[in-house]
Amino acid sequence: MIIAETIQEVRDQVRAWKREGLSVGLVPTMGYLHEGHASLVEESVRQCDRTVSSVFVNPTQFGPNEDLETYPRDFEHDCALLETKGCDLVFHPSVEEMYPDGFATYVEIQSEMPKQLCGKTRPIHFRGVCTVVSKLFHIVEPDKAFFGQKDAQQLAIIRRMVTDLSMGITIVGCPIIRESDGLAKSSRNTYLNEAERKAALVLSQAVFLGQRLVAEGERDADRVVAAMSAHIAKEPLARIDYVSAVDGMTMLPVHEIENDVLIAMAVYIGKTRLIDNFSVKL
Ligand code: AMP
Repeated sequence: MIIAETIQEVRDQVRAWKREGLSVGLVPTMGYLHEGHASLVEESVRQCDRTVSSVFVNPTQFGPNEDLETYPRDFEHDCALLETKGCDLVFHPSVEEMYPDGFATYVEIQSEMPKQLCGKTRPIHFRGVCTVVSKLFHIVEPDKAFFGQKDAQQLAIIRRMVTDLSMGITIVGCPIIRESDGLAKSSRNTYLNEAERKAALVLSQAVFLGQRLVAEGERDADRVVAAMSAHIAKEPLARIDYVSAVDGMTMLPVHEIENDVLIAMAVYIGKTRLIDNFSVKL
């Protein structure tokens, strides 16, 4: 596996592959990789001839009071995992490489979409995500890029951006990978102490409860959200940021359960903010 720290190295390698007629998949990550990330790499390896993964903690998607400084990092472990999954190149740039002196150009979706759900408490988050993902798309020029349904709003926003800017890259959404007890895998789970780790189960329990209500025929989205919220509220270590039912494409609130409605949540467990969701499939 090639480890590249500069944009030029990545361009040279990917262009060499393209000259050989090989297809290229991209898996963007912030590192501290787990089986959720690994599943995206596996899917890229299945669908593409070569797989590039980026490991970059992107400063522009963190707000001033968020966890940029403390975000967990373990590049050696990341490389070991990527290599076993069949990744061909890992791009691990410095902040200076990605954001040169005088950097002033951002990619931002001008609709309500990035202001809903996580956007309410993280107003600059999706501008940072769109900017860094656009840069990675320009650097790698992949045929396909792989993102987790775990970050459902991010996935919808990236699909919008790729369509709007005619980027010509196929976006592949991949299912949420969970711990055996249900907790969605996340690099931020490492922040949880023992009591918080147990309490964090209310997120996946609420997801499973919501899925069960929908499967039993409930079509009132507000009732589903209320039942899920009530379950989370029983846990003293949990504080709800939001539990919402939205249109899966626009992220705008809905009141009726229909196909592709997204029911998403962000919940603080102690100081750690965790997310989870499910998409309605009728
Ligand atoms: P991150 O490193 O948190 O920025 O995540 C990088 C990519 O991995 C994103 O597309 C995430 O949606 C995806 N991802 C993170 N956790 C999971 C998970 N538990 N299951 C599936 N995909 C995930």
